[in-house]
Amino acid sequence: MSLHQGSSSARELSVNPFFGAADPVGGMTTAPPKHRLPDGPMTPSAAYQLVHDELMLDGSARLNLATFVTTWMEPEARVLMAECLDKNMIDKDEYPQTAEMERRCVAILSDLWNAPDPDATVGCSTTGSSEACMLAGLALKRRWAKRTPGYPATARPNLVMGANVQVCWEKFCAFWEVEPRLAPMTGDRLHLDAESALALCDENTIGVVAILGSTFDGSYEPVADICAALDAYEERTGTHIPVHVDGASGAMVAPFLDQDLVWDFRLPRVASINTSGHKYGLVYPGVGWALWRDAEALPEELVFRVNYLGGEMPTFALNFSRPGAQVVAQYYTFLRLGFEGYRAVQQTSRDVATSMAARFAAMDDFRLVSGGDELPVFAVTTSPDVTAYDVFDVSRRLREHGWLVPAYTFPANRQDLAVLRVVCRNGFSQDLADLLMDDLDRLLPELRAQSQPLHRPESKATAFHH
Ligand SMILES: *Cc1c(COP(=O)(O)O)cnc(C)c1O
Repeated sequence: MSLHQGSSSARELSVNPFFGAADPVGGMTTAPPKHRLPDGPMTPSAAYQLVHDELMLDGSARLNLATFVTTWMEPEARVLMAECLDKNMIDKDEYPQTAEMERRCVAILSDLWNAPDPDATVGCSTTGSSEACMLAGLALKRRWAKRTPGYPATARPNLVMGANVQVCWEKFCAFWEVEPRLAPMTGDRLHLDAESALALCDENTIGVVAILGSTFDGSYEPVADICAALDAYEERTGTHIPVHVDGASGAMVAPFLDQDLVWDFRLPRVASINTSGHKYGLVYPGVGWALWRDAEALPEELVFRVNYLGGEMPTFALNFSRPGAQVVAQYYTFLRLGFEGYRAVQQTSRDVATSMAARFAAMDDFRLVSGGDELPVFAVTTSPDVTAYDVFDVSRRLREHGWLVPAYTFPANRQDLAVLRVVCRNGFSQDLADLLMDDLDRLLPELRAQSQPLHRPESKATAFHH
């Protein structure tokens, strides 16, 4: 045993205030205020119980058929995420392996999306597709500004897209002062097509956004047709208009289930693609990805550099600090599933969607708006002769059984069309789908017996932004 000398140093151990017990009697009797910081601490167990109990009133995430976002991951993914909760994604120098996993994920996606020159592709993780779309939109705007001498004095930038775009594109236009040019829906055309896109393009169009697939009905927009129309336009006018593919959901579905569909970097006009790692990328929120075909598609002046292993790493982001756990979980999921694993998971979701859609189609009460054969998502409306109830009634009644199935109206010019939409995700099994359909079968006689549709919540009907 080693010998130690006594010390007369008066220095005490330091205590983290978290280690101290809160006043136990106060914790039993004092009710903390709701909207003001409590005067003092309470025990961790009491604070936990208060928060936990209040959250019981949230809906069950697994029964939430409104969201595209992942609601189930396996225990190993949870463990990894818990291990990484303390890692800040921006600290590349301090967490070089987390940075390396992000880099590998970008490489995996560039390969999956058929980038012609993987070494030239640039990309980054984001908090979700919204941030990714902001970055992609900024790159489009900057490229346009550089080739437009009239900006900002006389020329005003515009972005062409369908009226069915996700709200993030309207945000992009509002935040960065770009005119949104939204192609309205007409008749059975419920998303952007080549003709309606072209009709809105001019020399101040910074780009066209094509969605794979639409949040309203799960349908894929015809990216290749839109690119071909813009090729012809460029030949005619000399104006180059790049395409951004918003693949928030579909960029993690189509590569596995629709390999013959050409929508990605195989199309030379596709400058950039985004996806939500937390949708069909199968990771808990929030992680997204943005990739650019090459350095030319992402103007250098938008890129900032942070320290990395004694050198510098380029970054492009709106946030500075951001959790690293989701990026690690994305890499884990890529490694865990591989191509065949992803294919099996997405095919299972699509099978659930198409079979459920077919059951709706077989009922006289409903008419399909989409069948779940693109994104594993389908939308149904009531048949024209159904006058006793509407989709809002169905949504409300299903909620009584715990099922969260949104009802909403379509944008211009199909505000007359109100639908129910079901998003089938990993974890929503055929068995759960059967239970939902059984509940619907039990509800329908009561709905049919209503004298008329109940009050439609106007604000809810139009404020749908998933
Ligand atoms: C969900 C979605 C977004 C927004 O993505 P977040 O990851 O939720 O920020 C953008 N575009 C489309 C088509 C979407 O489905």
